[in-house]
Amino acid sequence: MAIKHKSFRDSVDKMFTHAAGLMSLPPGLEEKIRVCNSTYTVRFGVRLRGEIQTFTGYRSVHSEHMEPVKGGIRYSMDVNQDEVEALAALMTYKCALVEVPFGGSKGGLRIDPREWNEDELERITRRFTYELSRRNLISPSQNVPAPDMGTGEREMAWMADAYKRLHPDDINAKACVTGKPRTAGGIDGRVEATGRGVQYALREFFRHDDVMKRAGLEGGLAGKRVVVQGLGNVGYHAALFLSQEDKALITTVIERDGAVSNPRGLDVGALKAHIAATGGVEGFTGGDFRPEGLAALEDECDVLIPAAVESVIHADNADRIRAKVIVEAANGPVTADADAILKHKGVVIIPDMYANSGGVTVSYFEWVKNLSQISLGRLERRHEEARARVLVEELERLSADTGLNWTLSKGFKEAFLTGADELELVRSGLDDTMREAFGKMKEVWVNNSKVDDMRTAAYVVAIRRISNVYGSLGL
Ligand code: GLU
Repeated sequence: MAIKHKSFRDSVDKMFTHAAGLMSLPPGLEEKIRVCNSTYTVRFGVRLRGEIQTFTGYRSVHSEHMEPVKGGIRYSMDVNQDEVEALAALMTYKCALVEVPFGGSKGGLRIDPREWNEDELERITRRFTYELSRRNLISPSQNVPAPDMGTGEREMAWMADAYKRLHPDDINAKACVTGKPRTAGGIDGRVEATGRGVQYALREFFRHDDVMKRAGLEGGLAGKRVVVQGLGNVGYHAALFLSQEDKALITTVIERDGAVSNPRGLDVGALKAHIAATGGVEGFTGGDFRPEGLAALEDECDVLIPAAVESVIHADNADRIRAKVIVEAANGPVTADADAILKHKGVVIIPDMYANSGGVTVSYFEWVKNLSQISLGRLERRHEEARARVLVEELERLSADTGLNWTLSKGFKEAFLTGADELELVRSGLDDTMREAFGKMKEVWVNNSKVDDMRTAAYVVAIRRISNVYGSLGL
């Protein structure tokens, strides 16, 4: 377990304040943007195993400068108010950076999902949905949850179904949550999306010689040594795609029970199957096992991808990190104190709000698909081309009216109108989004001598956009 010197929220606030301090925001606006609007705490009982079990859940709304607000729901025993507030704030900045028109929110339930069977989890999830729904904390137009740690398609399907039963007349009910299975209104490519986005982020980084040089790297991704912490949904897809498609070497994977390494590169698919079968990495024959997992964060490598929880790189281990670039696939894996130490050492950080934005980007595609009731598949294409055009025009009109970017990016729009299949469409839309956001971040980073790292650049881009929205709202 990482030593948490300061709270996660303090860390996020500190990074925000550093960036905001470089901008000249109208008086009071900095605080308005920084603070969390509200956090709802609920304690509810569910009769299970012959007695009433009480659960504590949260849904925090950080900023409603755009609605709906968006963010995942986490199932973990570590969930607390401070954590959901920090995560909700990161959602606000993330959405602004990649221009998905949402405010930030996040939820959590204090539960160890491994302690309950599927039936029990379903009852708990449906009850939690009911509690959220009573407060409009799940709603297609106001607050749209998604998967996060400990939740996935299954939980989203339960939530969508519970919401629909509570709101039988809501024609947009499907859009009340994203990350649903395809059969329940989900979109192809959402499960892989966050890991896919990590891959696209890293590819984009490797296309820019000048930023690579800042990390002391050259050449392509092929043969680069990559350490991944956490082979959950995000870490697994990132590691799989980077090794299979970009020929990077996944030299170490860190999991709960320890780390497994192979300098020639691990077989990610086989390792995932081993973890599914045994519950850990120990005993995997394709690499060497060490029980002290977290120490492997300090392994020599080119790229370190923390893809598990927050605050794993902190003031006490930052100095020993030997990666050249850290890609924050998890939210908040590097504390503000560690960030400063790493910057001093010349380690480049590709920040969470950019690196893991693939999830919410594809959530946006899913939400648009649900609202418009348009199926993006090729089969239905001919009948729906006219409606697709109407949707694109509508989004463009909204953009012009509000001065905000409601449009789908260029490549996505082209693919949308020409009838690419859904997965192709989603991947090209995500790639466009990642490239565009990288360009904006880099522009601020290289052109402003006071902006000393990519995270600060990302915050500046995000804060500028949020403050423009507040400006247009007349606040
Ligand atoms: N939980 C994911 C995140 O942290 C996805 C959120 C969403 O799709 O709304 O970004």
